[in-house]
Amino acid sequence: MSDKSKNGIDRRDFMIASLATVGASAALAVSADAADAEDTASTPASGTVYTGDTIEGKKVVSALDVDDLEPGQKHFLYFQGAQMPTGQYWYVSVTVAKGARPGKRGILTSGVHGDEMSNIHTVQTVMNQLDPAQMSGTVMAVTDVARPAIESMQRRWPNQGRGVDLIDMNREWPGNENGLTAPSRHAGLLFNRLLRPNADFAIDFHTGTTGFEVTAFNIGGMDVPDVKAMVELYPVGQIFDNHVYPGVLHNAFMDVGIPSFTPEIGAARVLDLEMIALFVEGTMNVLKHHGIVAGPMGRTGKDVNVFTGNSAFPILATQGGIVEHLVKLNDKVEPGQKVAIQRNSFGEVVAEYTSGVAGEITGQRSDAMSEPGNPLVFILFHKAALVGAEAYPE
Ligand SMILES: [Zn+2]
Repeated sequence: MSDKSKNGIDRRDFMIASLATVGASAALAVSADAADAEDTASTPASGTVYTGDTIEGKKVVSALDVDDLEPGQKHFLYFQGAQMPTGQYWYVSVTVAKGARPGKRGILTSGVHGDEMSNIHTVQTVMNQLDPAQMSGTVMAVTDVARPAIESMQRRWPNQGRGVDLIDMNREWPGNENGLTAPSRHAGLLFNRLLRPNADFAIDFHTGTTGFEVTAFNIGGMDVPDVKAMVELYPVGQIFDNHVYPGVLHNAFMDVGIPSFTPEIGAARVLDLEMIALFVEGTMNVLKHHGIVAGPMGRTGKDVNVFTGNSAFPILATQGGIVEHLVKLNDKVEPGQKVAIQRNSFGEVVAEYTSGVAGEITGQRSDAMSEPGNPLVFILFHKAALVGAEAYPE
């Protein structure tokens, strides 16, 4: 599993250099020669690899199989992700609640976008409620997936490719260990060596983004019974029944047959404790559904008036100016209903925005100033015929 040859030089990087300079056929020859050092970029790793390092008393792994961990305990580890330009590593925190008895293995992730906080708190709260001695199965949490984005509390990863590029890590999954950017490699390492090998199901928690607030909802393909069964266990008001697009983490799981979906928990940058409690309750229900945790179900979707849509109608700004919303999150709207107006610097109304559909408000621009083209409102609604990929306000 070592990435290094005997002289400590990473041979995978020779392969990439070959690909870039002398073409693919030469690279294939190098690839055959380097087979002993080549890592599995497309198949899950098996077995735990400790690097021998510890950080603040926590052991570092470069691959993890939760079956190798002591049952009936919580384990706190660092996973070694992609390298920084200095040659140091982006470590991510891994918490494993390993049940005393065998059972299903669930994964809870947050921090794929760096400005989202309520999702991190949700995962932490669930993990803090778990008692491994009473569990049948395993729950693993990775709360800070896109570390460099989180360090600056911004959505995207500041990559050092051609000057600083900001890369949205939730367009990179399942990643590529030999990819051309750090977030691509980081995604590949995490997916192949940490997430996929330990998942019977996976939940990737998000919130709205800086400047754009969303309500509480879950995104998932409700035509997949294993996904539907989990999503319906959340006492939250909206379901976005859609497979969205490739590159998002929950779809990388789905593509390899692991049921997965994405909860969205309100506004970015803040903790919404009331909303967090709903997602904690729903996630505990999911763990009970899978037999990992015992006890009665909490409230589910049946206990709230869930609105399900399969499409998000976007309203984009046509002008620059200050936006004034006329409706609130979760409000029901009708076609033709005015939902926002916009004023220029003189206070004159320069635009009026109306809904094109009957649905419920699922997201609103929270930065009052807007330039043309920015999404101002997303309205969750039911579309008769879906064509192509759908944008959504994650
Ligand atoms: Zn997000």
